[in-house]
Amino acid sequence: MSKFLKNCYANLDAYVPGEQPKDCEYIKLNTNESPFEPSESVIKAVNSDEVKNLRLYSDPTASALKSKISELYGVNSENVYVANGSDDILNFSFMAFSGESKQAVFPEISYGFYKVFANLYGIESEMIPLKEDFSIDYKDYLYKNKFIIIANPNAPTGLTLSVKEIEEIVKTNKNNVVLIDEAYVDFGGESVVPLTKKYDNLLVSMTFSKSRCMAGARLGFAIGNKELIKDLELIKYSTNPYNINRLTLVAGVAALEENDYYMDRCKEIIKNREYTEKELKKLGFTLTDSKTNFVFAQCDFIDGEELYKRLKAKGILVRHFSLEKIKNYNRITIGTIEQMRALINAIKEIKEEVK
Ligand code: PMP
Repeated sequence: MSKFLKNCYANLDAYVPGEQPKDCEYIKLNTNESPFEPSESVIKAVNSDEVKNLRLYSDPTASALKSKISELYGVNSENVYVANGSDDILNFSFMAFSGESKQAVFPEISYGFYKVFANLYGIESEMIPLKEDFSIDYKDYLYKNKFIIIANPNAPTGLTLSVKEIEEIVKTNKNNVVLIDEAYVDFGGESVVPLTKKYDNLLVSMTFSKSRCMAGARLGFAIGNKELIKDLELIKYSTNPYNINRLTLVAGVAALEENDYYMDRCKEIIKNREYTEKELKKLGFTLTDSKTNFVFAQCDFIDGEELYKRLKAKGILVRHFSLEKIKNYNRITIGTIEQMRALINAIKEIKEEVK
């Protein structure tokens, strides 16, 4: 750290992304990426004359992309904000919506970035414990009078709240923004986007990183009341108006033109998830009822960290968190069926090794 860094940043506990080791070709089941390539339309769009246009700034209004998103989700363009990954939406939301009292509330076990953003902006975080079974009790979030953020489905548990439960939270917190992070909603959850027409305090964020096979393109979007969207635009135009590059913009449009391709890939992930769940259960694992592109699993024959290490030694990366309450679990991204078979075989070997 240099002597120039402001004191308020000196103790930041930054987010630690999932590892990307280069020492060998791993089966990468640790960062919830898609195992599938983007659709042909995206590959064509990116390899087009648009490359030559890189000398020009990108469209700060992202109008073509917003129009596609609004069509797909049945809202108006003015209800859509697009961002450099949904992390940017979370970032701006913590910056803009934590209120004069600078308070935020989110589940104790959830996406690790929430706490990081709260710390970055000096926001006091109320982190509400999950229930024993790792589910969220929606009643804990009623009448909070604070900025609320909930991942639905939640990560790393994969569990969902119902639309009704979220509506109760939104309804009882009318003076605060409720941000529902739907990064994983396409793998079996139910979106609350329709509720954004009814409630001006509900913001929904989504990403192209998971179900749309484009984590490396960095593209996310939010849907909400047009005033909330204007607030996000205000922050964007006060920081980085050209927040999405030209190639990502055309890739986003092209992806939405082949929506069926992506929805089929989601179905395939769900099928592979069911296979993985069945096989892990046979091996003695307990799992949460995940509605995402990952499973959250633990077993009695080996502790979570040791399993993570042994899988890594066999060339398979999964995500282990050292948090006390979940340290016996691993979060395993669902890949292709071949990758999941390799995972199951590796775990069978490990089970034999530790006998
Ligand atoms: N929300 C959740 C719950 C996530 O797990 C992730 C991915 N790590 C994100 C948001 C951010 O995704 P991205 O910035 O790639 O859109």
